[in-house]
Amino acid sequence: MAGSLEGKVAFITGAARGQGRAHAVRLAREGADIIAVDICAQIETANYDLATEADLAETARLVAELGRRAVTRVADVRERTPLTVAVAEAAAELGGIDIVVANAGISLVGPEVPMMGWFDTVSTNLSGVINTLEAAFPHLRENASLICISSMAAMMEGMVDNPAAGPGGAAYAHSKRAASRLVHDLALQLAPRSIRVNAVLPGNIDTPMIRNEALYRLFRPDLENPTWEDAQPGFQAMHKLPVPTLQPEDISEAVLFLASDSSRYVTGLQLKVDAGTLERAR
Ligand code: NAD
Repeated sequence: MAGSLEGKVAFITGAARGQGRAHAVRLAREGADIIAVDICAQIETANYDLATEADLAETARLVAELGRRAVTRVADVRERTPLTVAVAEAAAELGGIDIVVANAGISLVGPEVPMMGWFDTVSTNLSGVINTLEAAFPHLRENASLICISSMAAMMEGMVDNPAAGPGGAAYAHSKRAASRLVHDLALQLAPRSIRVNAVLPGNIDTPMIRNEALYRLFRPDLENPTWEDAQPGFQAMHKLPVPTLQPEDISEAVLFLASDSSRYVTGLQLKVDAGTLERAR
């Protein structure tokens, strides 16, 4: 049976692991060919490891296993020119782009994040989204769908001013808030050209971004060597549904909806997949 994305090409950033890999696999399962881009290197201010070239190769292997084509490129979304060249080459190979998932991101939460962390956070999570969309633009085919992976932090009260989250937490929240706002503006601008633009706002997702010591310390500053298990009550306290973290595949279902014709008249949506975090009593 033909999948809902048969004949389409999806360009995904941050595709080497975590949510980006899950999106690549989910969209490929629906028939899409994949352009998978990742930095595959460390950003100096990041206090956890980013992906490797072996991770990106594994994403490509998983896509190929589903019978779809995967074109990989190592590129930093902060660097507009090399990213543009990489995307142009990959789009030429696959014949164009129908779906863009601007997913690459970093989160430098913690009281010890240097001010350069602000720069890296904003240039990845905000400028990186702009660079990604710009790089894809000349190659977009008809009725394209642009999806930005924002965060519940974009709309969370207290995140920007939370002293425990420190400058990194504030930088992250501001970058995601601006990215979500960009989605709103682009949805209005691009609607006359039948290009849809939507955001997904994930809650706590079980990926290396939150499985790291800096984040455990944020929740358990009282412990010398806090673990993933120690951090669970902290993650749970953010969610309203009784689950501390969601799986990357839970976000992929939202991405698939926004990528496919099931959402053909949906644009400008800020789709929360956050286990109820942003719900407030009325
Ligand atoms: P992750 O760290 O596993 O994956 C992020 C990927 O982006 C990595 O492969 C990394 O190498 C890549 N990357 C980072 N900076 C890059 C750059 N400058 N250029 C190219 N690639 C770069 O984390 P994840 O949870 O899969 O994150 C995916 C997206 O989801 C991010 O935008 C993140 O902010 C967002 N998000 C995550 C959570 C969570 O709890 N994990 C919650 C809300 C939103």
